[in-house]
Amino acid sequence: MLLPRRSSIGVKTGSVQIGGGAPIVVQSMTNTDTADIEATAQQIAALNRAGSEIVRITVDREEAAAAVPYIRERVAELGNDVPIVGDFHYNGHMLLSRYPDCAEALAKYRINPGNVGFKEKKDRNFSMMIDQALAFDKPVRIGVNWGSLDQSLLTELMDQNAKSAAPIDARQVMHEAVVQSGVLSAVRARELGLGPDKIIISAKCSEVQDLIAVYRLLAQRCDYALHLGLTEAGMGSKGIVASTAALSVLLQEGIGDTIRISLTPEPGGERTREVIVAQEILQTMGLRSFAPMVIACPGCGRTTSTVFQELAQDIQTYVRERTIDWRRDYPGFETLQLAVMGCIVNGPGESKHADVGISLPGTGELPTAPVYVDGKKVATLRGADIAQQFKSIVETYVKERWGSA
Ligand code: SF4
Repeated sequence: MLLPRRSSIGVKTGSVQIGGGAPIVVQSMTNTDTADIEATAQQIAALNRAGSEIVRITVDREEAAAAVPYIRERVAELGNDVPIVGDFHYNGHMLLSRYPDCAEALAKYRINPGNVGFKEKKDRNFSMMIDQALAFDKPVRIGVNWGSLDQSLLTELMDQNAKSAAPIDARQVMHEAVVQSGVLSAVRARELGLGPDKIIISAKCSEVQDLIAVYRLLAQRCDYALHLGLTEAGMGSKGIVASTAALSVLLQEGIGDTIRISLTPEPGGERTREVIVAQEILQTMGLRSFAPMVIACPGCGRTTSTVFQELAQDIQTYVRERTIDWRRDYPGFETLQLAVMGCIVNGPGESKHADVGISLPGTGELPTAPVYVDGKKVATLRGADIAQQFKSIVETYVKERWGSA
């Protein structure tokens, strides 16, 4: 079973708390050019509408830094008061210093300790960013990424390991370097005056086993709030499966206070998919509820027509579309469970376990669809508009159960 740990330290990122007993926060990142104010604001709003509670944007050059305050204004005009985090690499110290309106508008700064500069510039640039965080009372995420790991630290640890009487595997040294990069940067931020309630650490890898190993070490070494994510998870089912595999293990061990799923959108695909996947991971693990769950059987030789797949998809889409209104009108509706089943083999049984369930006729069965509400059969649907009839039953159920809340 495992669970508890999670960070006891709460970090306020704008209006959202991470750690300190708060629910695990879902966040995402835009892929627009930040200098394009309208496109970035629209995508932030879309990600927030999909359920992202924090949205990160890249701040890579002066035009992007100059755009940030206007993006925040435009996002507010669109009705989405979501905290916006700035992602800085190489020149973050300069951008935050030169563009105070940007530093003020952002809810948090992401600093990659592997990308702040080399040799003596590294400490100076890092200090400049922490100074800005102190001046504007903002938290930072020390975001280590093994693809841009601090090479001087890695070399030092490799050398130490080579001289050791009992050298460890090179991969373990790399894990150690990722963890130390995050922890030592947090130590430095504390020396510069940043409180523990202003520090979040992430240590992202792109391989599942590496990510698990690194975060276990990190959780043993500190109590800072941890941001979880498998970096460069990939596209489609590969990215979803890899992210789910890695994050499920860690979340079950009580590790992780906020998550982001780094999916590569398919051509023409929606950026918001990463938000839905993050929500589904948390909801299927029973850690949070965001939207009603639709349980559907996979179908088999008993469902030879496409009616069953079409209905399952139709209901899933309907539930997603109704979520915004239901969230406003029916607090608590997120725990709703629906079942859409393909035949009478498991259909009635699974339908009885759900709040509202329908069992469609399989091949050779009577063209009727029994509907169960709270475990009792309440109707038998027939005809071409079964989907519409079922949605009407669901709508009534939500209204009656959560309408008075
Ligand atoms: S419920 Fe029926 S249609 Fe669905 S997988 Fe089971 S046997 Fe097949």
